[in-house]
Amino acid sequence: MIVIGGGISGLAAAWQLRGKADVTVLESDQRIGGKLHTSTIGGIPVDTGAESIMALRPEAVELAQEVGLGAELCDPATAPTTVWTHGRLRPMPAGHVLGIPTEPRALAGTGLLSDEGLERLCREEELPAGPLPRDTDISVAGYLSERIGQEAVDRLVEPMLGGVYAGRADRLSLRAAMPRLAAVAEHGGSIIGALRRVRAAGAPKVAAVQGVRGGTGRLPIAVAQASGARILTGTRARELGPTPSGRWRVCAQTADGPLVMEADAVILALPAYAAAELLRGHSPAAHEDLSAIRHANSAVITMAFDRARMTALPEGNGFLVPPVDGHVIKAASFLTNKWSWLRESAPGSFVLRVSIGRAGEDKELDVPDRHLIRTAVSELHLAAGRMGEPTSARVTRWDRSLPQYGVGHADRVERIREAVAKLPGIELSGAAYEGVGVAACVATGRKAARQVFEG
Ligand SMILES: Cc1cc2nc3c(=O)[nH]c(=O)nc-3n(C[C@H](O)[C@H](O)[C@H](O)COP(=O)(O)OP(=O)(O)OC[C@H]3O[C@@H](n4cnc5c(N)ncnc54)[C@H](O)[C@@H]3O)c2cc1C
Repeated sequence: MIVIGGGISGLAAAWQLRGKADVTVLESDQRIGGKLHTSTIGGIPVDTGAESIMALRPEAVELAQEVGLGAELCDPATAPTTVWTHGRLRPMPAGHVLGIPTEPRALAGTGLLSDEGLERLCREEELPAGPLPRDTDISVAGYLSERIGQEAVDRLVEPMLGGVYAGRADRLSLRAAMPRLAAVAEHGGSIIGALRRVRAAGAPKVAAVQGVRGGTGRLPIAVAQASGARILTGTRARELGPTPSGRWRVCAQTADGPLVMEADAVILALPAYAAAELLRGHSPAAHEDLSAIRHANSAVITMAFDRARMTALPEGNGFLVPPVDGHVIKAASFLTNKWSWLRESAPGSFVLRVSIGRAGEDKELDVPDRHLIRTAVSELHLAAGRMGEPTSARVTRWDRSLPQYGVGHADRVERIREAVAKLPGIELSGAAYEGVGVAACVATGRKAARQVFEG
């Protein structure tokens, strides 16, 4: 069995196949993990890619437990979601679902919305709303602006989407990017009322997300080790083709030259554009739909400060930034406040990370690293107070990293899956299909591995 792509979805597939097949994972990079990566800054371990895993759905947490990291899972500090808007950091009242408040009146006095914006939001429960037809998709903004008003979309929902998808509410699909909300919309009626009832029925007893002590980048390494798979890094798959005996041949490039391998089945655990290339000659339909999935570029600027010399100590876990305010940064995460293991391992430092980059806004990233660091520091000072200069700073660029689930994405994925089903022995997994988060990627990886045997 060959798995192409050593990110978390490919490694989850390899883990699922342990004991059932000899598995080789081909990874083009020199390291495994893809968008999960822990490195150090000033000697302190920090995640430069994904920093947490969803705990409200089970897949990533279960995988961590299965590979021996259960005792290493930890909750972030409890802190409200905070938005930098109208010139200040403004905590959101508890009880919002992806930025949609379940108690809109609690926003009074927060300064998050203007009086008109708040009134418009509060009218949502009185507005008539027919059910969203099951076969209809619409952009998040297209649906929500009619319900909660444009201002609430701009200042409450948009920052959340920037954080998760690096995408914009007017382009992202309601069904694919906010499936919980789409399910509510299908019933019709007030979405605020429906979300409030869901919350009242039982608030989750676990934190929404968890991290791994020492860095979430430990997860793919642990999965790779526990899987027993043969892992070939520095090995880029270039071509895929059927053999006369009904198997698949993979031609790859390594530093030592070409490598040709055969297997009964191949799992493409790749970004959509990379899967598209390998399927080009075998399924024009899959190639076309995979190629049409756009990916946003982003950058993470990780910084360490000397705590003793900081002029202001930021509070809370960080903040999100609505694009409507015209700032460059889209989020900041105060890692030292958020993760107790990090605070304990480096008590003299304050470590944080800032993210920049939304789909279609590449000009902000098209500058040298030192400019990105400068922008990040000056906007941090504006938002959270003049905290001084970092002692170390590093830019990690994530090019074409977050797939954009545009309107019609779910149908597109269905077409891709139908087309690939005509290629026996080929399976797909990864962030491009049913969710970009680590948990969703783990789910697609394990499902692809099961499909290999079940067909
Ligand atoms: C900055 C950032 C922060 C994020 N934060 C979070 C978070 O906090 N929580 C969360 O749940 N999610 C987060 N995400 C999303 C999540 O990390 C990713 O969606 C997920 O890790 C993707 O996993 P994957 O295995 O599908 O793909 P990838 O991680 O992209 O793995 C695919 C692998 O395939 C390799 N590859 C590509 N082409 C070839 C080829 N031809 N041959 C061989 N190998 C190839 C790549 O090098 C890569 O290692 C974040 C993403 C980014 C970019």
